[in-house]
Amino acid sequence: MKACIIAVGSELLTPLRVDTNSLRITERLNEIGYEVRHKTIVGDDVDDLTEVLSAELLSADLVICTGGLGPTDDDITREAVSKVTTRPLEMHPEILERIRERFARRNLKMADINQRQAMVPHGAAVLENVNGTAPGLWLEHHGKPIVLLPGPPREMIPILEAVIRDRLAPQSGGLGLFRRVLRITGATESDVDARSQPVYSRWQQQDVPISTTILAVLGQIELHLTAIASDRATADRVLDFAVEQLEGTLGSIVYSVDGSPLEAVVGDLLRRTGWRVAAAESCTGGLLTSRLTDVPGSSDYVEASAICYSNRAKVDWLGVDGALIAEHGAVSDPVARAMAERVRVKAGVDVGIGVTGIAGPGGGTPGKPVGTVAVAVSTADVTESRTFQFIGGREQVKYQATQAALNMLRLLMLGL
Ligand code: ATP
Repeated sequence: MKACIIAVGSELLTPLRVDTNSLRITERLNEIGYEVRHKTIVGDDVDDLTEVLSAELLSADLVICTGGLGPTDDDITREAVSKVTTRPLEMHPEILERIRERFARRNLKMADINQRQAMVPHGAAVLENVNGTAPGLWLEHHGKPIVLLPGPPREMIPILEAVIRDRLAPQSGGLGLFRRVLRITGATESDVDARSQPVYSRWQQQDVPISTTILAVLGQIELHLTAIASDRATADRVLDFAVEQLEGTLGSIVYSVDGSPLEAVVGDLLRRTGWRVAAAESCTGGLLTSRLTDVPGSSDYVEASAICYSNRAKVDWLGVDGALIAEHGAVSDPVARAMAERVRVKAGVDVGIGVTGIAGPGGGTPGKPVGTVAVAVSTADVTESRTFQFIGGREQVKYQATQAALNMLRLLMLGL
C-alpha cells in the first residue's frame, strides 16, 4: 500500500521550520504496512497544493496532508481538497459549535474568521482535535482515503494516533512494515554492495519480499532491510534469516545488526572481556573518549585518557621517546604504537589506544596529506597499528579516526 504525505505551509520552505510531522506520520504508517512513496512540502498556495494533490491521488492509495487548516486566508488545505475532489465546502454546525465553546471556555468571543475552520468538503468525517480549534478531516475520493491533519505537532499527533488506530490499522489487515539495520565499518559502499548484492537480490522474489537499501554514512555503511508482513513473527523469521546470510557473506565488517552504535558494541565487548581501556588522543582531541563515555555504564571499563596534542605533551607527559618523533614524525605508526603502549602502562589498564593524525585543513605534506591518521591498540601481548587515509573536512577526519580506533579495538577483542 502506497502512501504520500503533503506538508502544507510556506514556513516549512524556509530554513526556520523543519517538517517533523511527516517523520512521525511515516513511522506510524510503516508500522501498519504502508510504504511512504512521496513526501512533498507545498507553500500556502491553493493552485500549487491542488496540483500536487491531484498528482498524488493518481498513484497513492492514501494521502495525508498536514497544516493549512487554520482560520486565515493563507490556510488553503480545505479549499484545495474541495477543488480536487469536486466536493463543495459546507458549514459544519457541530464544528462551529465546538470552536465557539472552546473560545467561551477561555472567556473569549470567537472571531468571525474562525468560521472558516468549520467549513468542510461535503461528506468529510470530522476527526476530533482535543488540543486546538481546527479538527482533522477524513474523506474518500474514488475509494482512496484523504486525511487532513492540523500542522502544530501537539494537535496533529493525537489525531494521527486515533486515525491509525480506528480507521487505517483495521483496513490494513494486520500488515506491518518491519526493518533491520546492519551497520558496517572498514569497507566502502561499493565493496559492500558488490559482496551483498548476489545475496539480497534473491529476496525480492520470495513470498515475503525484502527490499534492501545501502546508505553511506560518515565512517560507516548501513544496510537497511525492510519486509512487509502480516505479523511480527513472520517478519522476524525472514529478516533473521536474511541478516544471518548477510553476516555470513560480509563477515567481521558487520559490527551491529540491531542498530547499536560502534561505541556501544565496543563497550559491550570490553565489559564481557573484563578489560579496562585508556586512550592517548592527539588529532581527535578527546572525541574518542567522548564517544566511549556516551554509553551509559561506561565507567565499568573506561579508566583514563590523555589528550596529547603537542609533541612536548607526547614526550613529557606520556613518555613517548622523542627520537621516535624525530625519526618518523608525530603522525606515524611507531608514534601511535608508543602512545598506545605508554597510556596502557601509565593508566595500568588492559588495553591502550593511540591516535595521531592530520585533521587539516593545514599541516599536510605530499608524503602525509591531510586525513592521514595513525591508530594503534596495545595489550600486554600485542600491539597493532595502521595508518589510514581519510577524506573530508576536519570534523569528518576526526570522526572517522575515532571510528577506525573503535573498530580496531573491536577486532582485537574478537581475535580477528
Ligand atoms: P493553526 O490552526 O494553528 O493555524 P494549521 O493546521 O493551519 O493550524 P499551520 O498554520 O500550517 O497549521 O501551522 C501552524 C504551526 O504548526 C507552524 O508554524 C509550525 O510551527 C507547525 N507545523 C506546521 N506544519 C508542520 C510540520 N509539517 N512539521 C512540524 N511542524 C509543523
